Amino acid sequence: MSAVLSLALGKTYVRVFALAVCLAGCRSLSQLAELPETHQLLRQTCRDFADRELSPIAARLDKKHSYPAKQIQELGAMGVMAMEVPEELGGAGMDYLAYSLAMEEISRGCASTGVVVSVNNSLYIGPILKNGTEEQKMQWITPFTTGEKVGCFALSEPGNGSDAGAASTVAHQDGDEWVLNGTKAWITNSWDASATVVFATTDKKLKHKGISAFLIPIPHPGLSLGKKEDKLGIRASSTANIILEDCRVPLDNMLGPRGAGFKIAMQTLDSGRIGIASQALGIAQASLDCAADYAHKRTAFGSPISKLQAIQIKLADMAVAIESARLLTWKAALLRDSKKPFTKEAAMAKLAASEAATFCSHQAIQILGGMGYVSDMPAERHYRDARITEIYEGTSEIQRLVIAGQLLKEYQS
Ligand SMILES: Cc1cc2nc3c(=O)[nH]c(=O)nc-3n(C[C@H](O)[C@H](O)[C@H](O)COP(=O)(O)OP(=O)(O)OC[C@H]3O[C@@H](n4cnc5c(N)ncnc54)[C@H](O)[C@@H]3O)c2cc1C
Repeated sequence: MSAVLSLALGKTYVRVFALAVCLAGCRSLSQLAELPETHQLLRQTCRDFADRELSPIAARLDKKHSYPAKQIQELGAMGVMAMEVPEELGGAGMDYLAYSLAMEEISRGCASTGVVVSVNNSLYIGPILKNGTEEQKMQWITPFTTGEKVGCFALSEPGNGSDAGAASTVAHQDGDEWVLNGTKAWITNSWDASATVVFATTDKKLKHKGISAFLIPIPHPGLSLGKKEDKLGIRASSTANIILEDCRVPLDNMLGPRGAGFKIAMQTLDSGRIGIASQALGIAQASLDCAADYAHKRTAFGSPISKLQAIQIKLADMAVAIESARLLTWKAALLRDSKKPFTKEAAMAKLAASEAATFCSHQAIQILGGMGYVSDMPAERHYRDARITEIYEGTSEIQRLVIAGQLLKEYQS
């Protein structure tokens, strides 16, 4: 809890509050109704940061496709780039509920910044923290806690996204090195990253059980980047192919056991989905904030449009979609923090929150009328940013398959 709270409270209180978080912990689901004080404080600190540093520049970052380097470093100084990493390794030592709260607030200010934070925390650091050796953690996590360096996660390929087990990138051993060949597609942060986790098959016959995970620095001989994708939304984050041509890394760069890559990827995505659900909540909340504010100010037929029931019904439906998705997201985070199974809940949270973001951003444009359709107001950006949350880290169709799979298992047992 250190850095974020230290900004709000001063350094003296840091360790006391870290302990308070461990003890109070918000471990019980009954505490969903009201967050512990420490989490409320963290949320407010991130909200203030987003209002001051992100909301005012989000439109410009989006228009210019520019990476928010300064803001990411400030978030690093606050501990937000490595929320779950223990303090000994340079992280903030917080829990996943805290991560979810921070992700929502940052994404409310700027969804592009949100995805940079999310990929570094959940997709890059997450699997190394869970599966890395002590040496790997020191080398591949600690320099990525400050915001000066960010990492990425390379699972998808041009030929397979949802069907991640069909990876065609290969790795073979040559003496004391692994040699990787193949193309990874759509890799978030790739143009700004200093390292990546890459998934490649070490034994094609074993299908998904032959996939292994590797750590590769960027830049590195044999690794090149494709063109920056020109995207609908989250335009301030970079997305590109990572091309591996006889890319050699030491044997020690394998993450986890040989053949464990698919399991590592799936576990990573389970946690990552809580981050994307939180990003979606931020976009949905920003849409509601913008729509409610406009409804108060805009007059039609002699009174503010907020007096019209047609507008009130839209605002109410938006609030219900957000609040229910938020509770699902917090529940998934709390289950993870209590070391209980959370695969189903994380998929439910991502599905509900991403659909809430799409719905709320659509409604916000309707409430703003013509002003919703132009970039003078943020509603059109929220609408564009929302769409990706139903696609990456598993499409909404895949979330439904995950939920149904878990549900049917429960009915069988
Ligand atoms: C901006 C952006 C950033 C991304 N960042 C990353 C990243 O950092 N790292 C990374 O590894 N990947 C990343 N991705 C890739 C992303 O995870 C995939 O795009 C996503 O998983 C979907 O895969 P696909 O695009 O190949 O679609 P496909 O798998 O081809 O799916 C196409 C359609 O078919 C549906 N479909 C597929 N299989 C089924 C099924 N069994 N049942 C029902 N419907 C199905 C899908 O839901 C979808 O509607 C990113 C993508 C984008 C656009």
